[in-house]
Amino acid sequence: MTVSDAANENTRHVHANRLAIDGGTPVRTAPLPWELPGAHFVGEEEFELVSRVVKARSPFRFYGPDPQHMVDTLEREWCETFGHKHALGVSSGTAALSIAVSALEIGPGDEVLLPGYLWVSCVSAVVRAGAIPKLVDIDETFCIDPEDLKRKIGPNSRAVLCVHMSGAPGRIREIAEVCREKGLALIEDCAQAAGASVGGTPVGRFGDIAIYSFQLNKNMTSGEGGLMVCQDEALYRRLVALHDLGYARTPLGRLDTSDEACQLWGVGARMSELAGAMALAQMRKLPAITGAMRDSKWRIRRALADIPGLKFRAIPDPEGDTGPFLLMILPDSGSADRFVAALRAEGIAGPDGSLACLTMREWGLHWYFNIPSLVQKRSNARDGFPWTHPSNAFAQGYSYAHGALPQCDDLHSRGAILTIASTLSEADEADIATAVRKVAAVVLG
Ligand SMILES: *Cc1c(COP(=O)(O)O)cnc(C)c1O
Repeated sequence: MTVSDAANENTRHVHANRLAIDGGTPVRTAPLPWELPGAHFVGEEEFELVSRVVKARSPFRFYGPDPQHMVDTLEREWCETFGHKHALGVSSGTAALSIAVSALEIGPGDEVLLPGYLWVSCVSAVVRAGAIPKLVDIDETFCIDPEDLKRKIGPNSRAVLCVHMSGAPGRIREIAEVCREKGLALIEDCAQAAGASVGGTPVGRFGDIAIYSFQLNKNMTSGEGGLMVCQDEALYRRLVALHDLGYARTPLGRLDTSDEACQLWGVGARMSELAGAMALAQMRKLPAITGAMRDSKWRIRRALADIPGLKFRAIPDPEGDTGPFLLMILPDSGSADRFVAALRAEGIAGPDGSLACLTMREWGLHWYFNIPSLVQKRSNARDGFPWTHPSNAFAQGYSYAHGALPQCDDLHSRGAILTIASTLSEADEADIATAVRKVAAVVLG
């Protein structure tokens, strides 16, 4: 090879490796699939079960001309699959959280400990019940740090709301142990982690009550919908009454006001048979959906294990991960910005309107200080309830502004999130790994 050939070769090489954001050739141009895990798997099974409900003209679970018992079947199969005693279909994960807090009789004078990386629904459930949210820091699992939890427990603490964020549990066994020692109730928010487990124990089996969501972005979906589980019979009866009109039902599905333990105020969050039918078909596919995402994600993670300066979220039990997100930790916020912008330019992006590759600073209401109603202590009522309630005077000094949780703020500032679709091909996975390597060599090099 002549020197000029070598120089040309060199130029081509340099050019091929120039980042797309600097004018080089992108790794790919076709969009990655949408990040909607269950939606990609919707097929004949959902159609068939939903059709049965429509044909029977019986979309209400408690009575009708020819009920198909879809919600009943969903609840029964859920208990059989995950080992719960009781399950209850509801209309959303947000409603489920409110019901859970009320079922535990939490209200003014109580505080609920929750992580700073969460979803806005977690906070609204506490505030709407009249209680006070108390922030707990996260660790590199992106879930509650058990050490900070111990530090934050105070005389008004009544419960911990542990959120299994971004598809995988954190140190849930230690968190459950702290709750037991301190006599606190434990609610598990499994909205982002249906089908996840730790050491073979499914999420939802560590606490007193657990909730799931079947909204479109979750591991399985009925568009809208959710589920609650618990072990205790009396607690289950409260869940049933609260999710409905505040009362039990007779075996024929009519309201029964006779049980004094269940004369409550309901939230009207029953699950319809249409949602139940769709959720039933989806839950039967849950292992396939989460298996696809977990396998894709860990193939990608392993392919990127040796890149200096690129760290991943800690996952105590990778076998129990459901895989919808790959969380990355960069050296600082500047490199996180450049890393994500360069990856998107390489074609690591979804169709318009989807969210495939983001800095954690673009992840909105998942971070406590991005929730204006929390930071500003807003109220739905004119009198400022619950912040102004005399029983909540203990919380007057609580701040929810940026700076309240140092580890959370740090991971927010230099974190990045890549959604892992449930239908990634081997070529998609290879493109993601190639793009990350290419970008890391320049941005982190
Ligand atoms: C989606 C979600 C919810 C709320 O569920 P919806 O069904 O959308 O009301 C609650 N908690 C977490 C962690 C979520 O991701």
